[in-house]
Amino acid sequence: MNRPKPVRFTAPKKLSEYPLGPAFRSGHLVEINSGMRTFRPVIDTEKCVKCLRCFLLCPDGVIDKSGDVLEVDYDYCKGCGICAHECKPKAIQMKKEGEA
Ligand code: SF4
Ligand code: SF4
Repeated sequence: MNRPKPVRFTAPKKLSEYPLGPAFRSGHLVEINSGMRTFRPVIDTEKCVKCLRCFLLCPDGVIDKSGDVLEVDYDYCKGCGICAHECKPKAIQMKKEGEA
């Protein structure tokens, strides 16, 4: 039987070394799930350097990079905050729902 060979984990040093397994293209979710969200990510497009870490690491693939600036699909973003945590230039702030 062919079994995968164990490999020693090494922290990725560049974007191309990140695993892509859990990332999905925007639009793959079939049910709107934003009702449970307490905080929403807001992208400051002036600070964004388009490194795409947020796009790659969002577990639900709800960050759209097809336009000139990145956009979050708020119908499907669950507000987990991973994108904001991983954004190095701090271009994403988590804002409480209902706040401007
Ligand atoms: S992680 Fe931050 S800087 Fe990088 S693309 Fe996303 S918003 Fe822009
Ligand atoms: S808060 Fe979570 S689900 Fe929403 S865009 Fe960021 S990483 Fe994706």
